[in-house]
Amino acid sequence: MKKVVIIGAGISGMTAGIYLQKAGFETEIYEKNAVPGGQCTGWKREGYMIDNCIHWLTGTKEGSGLNALWKEVGALGDGVEVYEKEKFFSAELDGETLTLWRDKDRTRKELLALSPEDEAEINQLMDMVASAESMQVPVEKPFDKMSISDYIKMGMSMAEMGKVMKLYGGMDIKELAERFKHPLIKRAIVDYMPPGYQAYAFVVSYATVTAGNGDIPQKGSLAMALRMAKRYQDLGGKLYLNAPVEKVIINGKKAEGIVLASKGEIEEDLQKRTVKADYVICASDANHTFTKLLDKKYMPKDLCKLFKERKAYPVMTAFQVAFAVEGKLDELKETNIFSCKPLTVGTVEADRMSVCNYSYEPSFAPEGNTILQTMFTQNEDDYEYWMELVKDKEAYQQKKEELSKEIESRLVERFPQIAGKVRILDVWTPVTYHRYCNSFHGAYMGFIVTKNAKNKTVAGKIKGLSNVFIASQWLMGPGGLPTAASMGKFAAQRIVDAKR
Ligand SMILES: Cc1cc2nc3c(=O)[nH]c(=O)nc-3n(C[C@H](O)[C@H](O)[C@H](O)COP(=O)(O)OP(=O)(O)OC[C@H]3O[C@@H](n4cnc5c(N)ncnc54)[C@H](O)[C@@H]3O)c2cc1C
Repeated sequence: MKKVVIIGAGISGMTAGIYLQKAGFETEIYEKNAVPGGQCTGWKREGYMIDNCIHWLTGTKEGSGLNALWKEVGALGDGVEVYEKEKFFSAELDGETLTLWRDKDRTRKELLALSPEDEAEINQLMDMVASAESMQVPVEKPFDKMSISDYIKMGMSMAEMGKVMKLYGGMDIKELAERFKHPLIKRAIVDYMPPGYQAYAFVVSYATVTAGNGDIPQKGSLAMALRMAKRYQDLGGKLYLNAPVEKVIINGKKAEGIVLASKGEIEEDLQKRTVKADYVICASDANHTFTKLLDKKYMPKDLCKLFKERKAYPVMTAFQVAFAVEGKLDELKETNIFSCKPLTVGTVEADRMSVCNYSYEPSFAPEGNTILQTMFTQNEDDYEYWMELVKDKEAYQQKKEELSKEIESRLVERFPQIAGKVRILDVWTPVTYHRYCNSFHGAYMGFIVTKNAKNKTVAGKIKGLSNVFIASQWLMGPGGLPTAASMGKFAAQRIVDAKR
């Protein structure tokens, strides 16, 4: 039986492992952390669950290829309930609120009532949201293995998306916002996604929710990752945790296996262990893969370009705080964005704040209580700021404390009913993302493809190495769970095909 070693038990690595086990390979996954899931994770604090990934899982609607993939890997199906999101998000400004509802007719009606003078733009936007519901994530085979007829079939199934691209292609969200007159509509469009994102990304994301294809699996992100790990192990896969890989061993044009790390959080009997393999899949962060595990010379050209052109393909990260609130806060549901007294987070002056109420998942808070999370988007300069600051551990802790208190006071200002009932559970920064997943510039999604940049999908193979493959969200912007899973499946397919 051919043996495959997979580096990283994120969504990509576990998907690859599951498909390979099913195809009759012997596989082992080595994961640096104590739990599988990578960026798709959550953790407990004082009886609360801090869910730190799924705001929407594309592919929850029955019938698509992606939905079938999620079921195959145990993310969905087998009685897993799905929470049907009520909305994409709400935004407030100067006493008015705008909500992008799951029900797009309701949104259209409310937007028209809010700003009759934007009628033409509102109708156009909502028509495009309807068209974007046809968007599918291709999961059958890698792009470089698709035939002309595959492309024609894909194009036909997404014909409606053509209208969206025709109208909004080459426009970024800021430009989309500028087409509207009403200040709240302008603001809401740029509130949710960081600058640089293209207008169609906003439309497609919202359409995922209106199509009922972007809901949240019961018990959230960590539970989904653990279901996938269980599916992998039930199929005979071996999952090693606390097992950071140091290097892929190369001999000529082939990998012979991997070497595990000698220090850090690694069990003594695993230290420096060499694991031989017929194939290696690097399902770790792509920058880490080609700077630490493999020589940089192996990085595919397209990937080099993406990492090099920091303006055209930026990445984002975040500063986040979780709060426990005694009692319920039913007037606040899911994600809401509101104005706040300005504060500096990293290098950014923020005057808007996003808060998510996780009340949709009862298991996240002790009965009768609430968990809220605030998120401030951070850019690559902010990442540098935090990485510099963390060199002085005390100063870093102090800044985290200071900022989280400032955020708490703004939260209470907006929701005075929680005064005296709120406390900080945890605070995490771009440094946390970097430390936890070795992630490039603290990013937890892949590259943002800005409006003048070419969208590049990187094939997960490596020139000069015949038995090493890449499986990662970094292969296709802007990353995310569906990309991670599909790239994991494609890496497995390449190995199955290579053996034929
Ligand atoms: C706050 C937040 C919100 C998000 N919201 C959404 C959302 O709503 N919808 C969505 O689709 N996506 C969302 N995402 C993004 C999603 O989590 C990622 O796209 C996805 O999990 C990436 O999977 P991956 O397998 O490609 O990479 P990773 O998750 O980074 O997995 C790589 C794994 O490799 C391990 N590793 C790294 N180096 C080594 C080494 N040397 N040895 C061993 N192991 C190693 C890491 O620890 C990690 O477990 C969100 C992420 C975050 C953090």
